[in-house]
Amino acid sequence: MKGDENPTAKALKKMSDEELIKRAKKFSNRYCVGDGKDFKLKNFSTTPKKTFGPEDKSTFKEALEQGIDALAELQEVLYAQDKWALLVIFQAMDAAGKDGAIKHVLSGINPQGCHVTSFKAPNAEELDHDFLWRCIKELPERGKIGIFNRSYYEEVLVVRVHEGILKNQKLPQNLVTKKIWEERLEDIQSFEKHLHRNGTKVIKIFLNVSKEEQKQRFLERINEPDKNWKFNSGDIEERGYWDQYMKAYEDAIRKTSTKNSPWYVIPADDKPYARIAVASAIIHALAEMDLTFPTLSPDEVGRLQEMKKTLLEEKL
Ligand code: ATP
Ligand code: MG
Repeated sequence: MKGDENPTAKALKKMSDEELIKRAKKFSNRYCVGDGKDFKLKNFSTTPKKTFGPEDKSTFKEALEQGIDALAELQEVLYAQDKWALLVIFQAMDAAGKDGAIKHVLSGINPQGCHVTSFKAPNAEELDHDFLWRCIKELPERGKIGIFNRSYYEEVLVVRVHEGILKNQKLPQNLVTKKIWEERLEDIQSFEKHLHRNGTKVIKIFLNVSKEEQKQRFLERINEPDKNWKFNSGDIEERGYWDQYMKAYEDAIRKTSTKNSPWYVIPADDKPYARIAVASAIIHALAEMDLTFPTLSPDEVGRLQEMKKTLLEEKL
């Protein structure tokens, strides 16, 4: 990696926090959909523009480490300021690397400031409520980062691809019309607008893996005994619906990506690259909040000084 665009590991090590944040913003902007009105999935690649070799490994490692450090620092201010919350939603096809991205990118964050929730097929109690209910219960409180590993977006993805699932959702018959997907997408957009207006920033990450790369990862899961546990025979069945999923993703992103709650479509065929892009998007979201440590009033500073005096004069 050469030039200003791709600094070396050494240059990254020396970079100031401000410079790093600036770079993270610029880098993540490549994958930020923003207003999704004209979004087309085919304009977003599953691979980075440049192919990387083993010589880039140390730069990648350093970039991720620096990103994780910057994230940890921003998270500390988020927590101290206790005003904003951040919700990061991960959506992807199987084996796109959601779990690995969550594990690596959040590895430096204080676990007390972060809450990860994985959403599977809803249980009986969840099906007795509206589709946002189970997610609302897991929203991050002020000062915290919430991570959704899958989310209410499944309601316009897997449920849209398999209409049999919709039939089991116990909805009143006259509410299930052809407009249901439009209506759900509209509800999701309004919900995220509501969250933003109340101080929860929402970003959505689609790890964009190719069908070919998914095949290779499934084969790896079958061939390597240590990875067998990750393989789920149902995943092969879902792969058969690839095109329908891509159509559903495209429509969901188009209708719900906004300036305040954007989607990031991140090339996921290269895992280390994808993780750096994910870290950059989260840094970008936090940096936009204009976070500052709370400052004390003159009275409070005075009281602190009194307490300091008491402590120093204490006889043991
Ligand atoms: P991994 O396979 O990498 O461990 P995962 O997120 O795929 O992670 P699984 O337990 O395999 O986890 O899958 C969860 C399943 O639950 C997915 O197939 C997803 O589509 C499904 N699911 C999530 N939300 C809903 C929903 N609202 N309705 C129906 N199915 C859902
Ligand atoms: Mg799965």
